[in-house]
Amino acid sequence: MIISIASGKGGTGKTTIATNMALSLKNVQLLDCDVEEPNAHIFLKPEIKQQISVYTSVPKIDETRCDYCGKCAEFCEFNALVALKNKIMVFLELCHGCGGCPIVCPKNAITEEDKEVGVVKKGVAGDIEFICGELNIGEPMAVPVIRRVKNEIDDDKTVIIDASPGTSCSVVAAVHGTDYCILVTEPTPFGLHDLKLAVEVLKKLGIPFGVIINREGIGDQNVQGYCKEEGVPILLTIPMDRRIAEVYSRGVPFILEMPEWKEKFLELFDKVQSMRS
Ligand code: SF4
Ligand code: SF4
Repeated sequence: MIISIASGKGGTGKTTIATNMALSLKNVQLLDCDVEEPNAHIFLKPEIKQQISVYTSVPKIDETRCDYCGKCAEFCEFNALVALKNKIMVFLELCHGCGGCPIVCPKNAITEEDKEVGVVKKGVAGDIEFICGELNIGEPMAVPVIRRVKNEIDDDKTVIIDASPGTSCSVVAAVHGTDYCILVTEPTPFGLHDLKLAVEVLKKLGIPFGVIINREGIGDQNVQGYCKEEGVPILLTIPMDRRIAEVYSRGVPFILEMPEWKEKFLELFDKVQSMRS
């Protein structure tokens, strides 16, 4: 079973849930797909055994063939190519690697070359198989790295995917194809606003989902009210607890020091299993 953990906004405790859940289960893979800011390793402290580069194809212009007709620049909807009177400028940081410009060039002046956009790190954290994507600094193309991480999915294991926060294409890439998505939120107006956006995305993708309310007690009851109205299951509620916060601040998953929570994560997993479509 593949479970994604997402959140409409950052800082809700999504990675805390992903790592504690992974530590509670057996035969688990944890995939950190929050490739812009991966931090599951801070809690799991894996031993990394392999690092794989991830590439996309970007255009390379042979100006000896180019007649500056501008067809490639006209075609590129990402404005990665700009045609001047006697110069073609390429902005690789805007290129989405669609492969279209070499096809439209009438002079065969464009070839493609590989550009590294990030890395995938593979290792182990105790019994957990750990895989993490890291996007290179300044690189805007997260999706190829996320897809490469997901290539490592082992169907014989329970897979937990830590997605990016928000509702961007990175989140869609991470949660797409998963059996169930857990949305982590906090009971505040901001938490509710972003939860609603995330719910809309999951409905469109047709992925079954439920909510974990983290730091209950810091805000109001409106998230609970919304979930009740919309028929969204609340899978688990984690109170605002000084001990949890203190353990978190030391980079330690709280089930390791508060073992009573392990049972709750096992119950959570059972609930999720019973709710998958
Ligand atoms: S389409 Fe080809 S020939 Fe025309 S400007 Fe672009 S690279 Fe040059
Ligand atoms: S590969 Fe696609 S996105 Fe990149 S420059 Fe060419 S047309 Fe634009």
